Amino acid sequence: MICAPLAEPSPQAARAAMAEAASRADLVELRLDCFEAVPGADELAALLRSRPCPIIVTNRSAAEGGRNDWPDDVRLKTLQAAIELGADYVDVELDFADRLERHGAARLIISVHNFTSTPLNLPELYRKIVDAGADVVKIATMANSLIDNLRMFEVLQQATVPCIGLCMGPLGQISRILGRKFGALLTYAPTDPAKATAPGQVVLDELAALYRYRSISEDTKVYGVIGNPIGHSLSPHIHNAAFQSLGIDAVYLPFKVEGDVANFIDAFRGLPVHGYSVTIPHKEAVAAALDEVDPVARDIGAVNTIVNRKGRLVGSNTDWTAAISAIESELPDGGLAGRRVALIGAGGTARAIAFGLKAKGAQTTIYNRTGDRAAALAKDVGCASRPFDALDTLEADVIANSTSIGMYPVVDASPVPATVLKPGIVVFDAVYNPVCTRLLADAEEAGCRSVSGLQMFVNQAVQQFETWTGMTAPRELMEAVTREKLAALD
Ligand code: NAP
Repeated sequence: MICAPLAEPSPQAARAAMAEAASRADLVELRLDCFEAVPGADELAALLRSRPCPIIVTNRSAAEGGRNDWPDDVRLKTLQAAIELGADYVDVELDFADRLERHGAARLIISVHNFTSTPLNLPELYRKIVDAGADVVKIATMANSLIDNLRMFEVLQQATVPCIGLCMGPLGQISRILGRKFGALLTYAPTDPAKATAPGQVVLDELAALYRYRSISEDTKVYGVIGNPIGHSLSPHIHNAAFQSLGIDAVYLPFKVEGDVANFIDAFRGLPVHGYSVTIPHKEAVAAALDEVDPVARDIGAVNTIVNRKGRLVGSNTDWTAAISAIESELPDGGLAGRRVALIGAGGTARAIAFGLKAKGAQTTIYNRTGDRAAALAKDVGCASRPFDALDTLEADVIANSTSIGMYPVVDASPVPATVLKPGIVVFDAVYNPVCTRLLADAEEAGCRSVSGLQMFVNQAVQQFETWTGMTAPRELMEAVTREKLAALD
């Protein structure tokens, strides 16, 4: 179930918010501690009578995240009234549970909140709450690492009493989505971000539409992207849309890995996760944590795709195949073999493309602002390098930009002067924000054949999806979602 928390300042505002939330949520949580004044019994009765869906009544203590500092006996009186008025659920902190008397059908949620950490004694905490007579156990703790979520999942899995177990904060967000897989009774999701009542809550529409929360079950396969930062990644949008369109029971999550990526990979083997995308800054370091890495990814020194084959984590690199197939889509006659390619850049993307060009038999010359990096990459790959200012006079069949020049917000920059762009040259730009970079606009004006970074981006997502699922990816949909999300970034 999805529960919309209502942190409204008055009974009138709460009534309106309840009506609005009920069309999208399965139940609402009325946070009395957010009211400006203690509600009278009549006001509470009227609110409960007008509820359009099941309701949790909460009057949180300040020590556990409440927004008022009313004396405990005042708070508890409102909760007792809610029980007697027939609220569906009343939520009370463990320390005060023995001060409420049961009445009628109201179910008691007994809760513990920890806003600093996820303690090691979660099972003990669960037991204490059960022993206090809970109809529903609620434990909410701050996640300081993604691994904290795994301990919360264990509590949910072992619970014999209905349980709400979640981790708070950005690192706990996955527990708010995946908790359902492990049997969580509900998750809290505000109707809009401004109405969040705890750190890390996922907005209701995102939870329902992007992560398809209501269709998550214990059988749902888990995929995700490892990176840091990860909040603006397009990958959850692309892959979740693809899973949904093919009716695949899977969910794709952002994994913000702050520390050692190997620790994360090892800990999450037990979840299990069926496939990962890997992005900055973990593409290089992740290889050491895997059971197998394909030879090209090893040469490149970077893994951007991991597939779980019966418990063995296998790494590969789809950046190079994605870029090469995008470029070759404009080279129908013989592809890249024997073509003169000017590769601009010597960073991670350049490295992947350089090995791809080598595999295709292209004659590659690398140009990079930091000449030593160009020379080092050229040596590793076995190709030429030239000074960056030689770009002014370059002659090539293919120009491939793999620097970030031209990327938002400095969108008017191009790595090469327009004068080197001649009709018939294929010009590829790895930058995909914006989709049409200054380089590509100049190329089109000069009569070149242009290939955007968007094609590379979509290709790598398609290849990842196909590696994980063995199915043909819905490319058009994935491209449309990418374009839509990129347009929204502007
Ligand atoms: P990276 O490893 O940090 O490398 C950055 C490269 O850009 C280096 O060669 C760097 O040169 C060069 N550079 C940066 N600013 C420059 C400037 N002002 N003037 C000259 N050179 C400059 O980054 P990366 O991961 O390879 O990513 C590079 C670009 O590719 C980014 O725009 C990224 O968004 C894009 N990308 C696209 C896709 C896709 O699917 N389309 C996938 C991955 C990456 P120095 O060595 O001199 O610092």
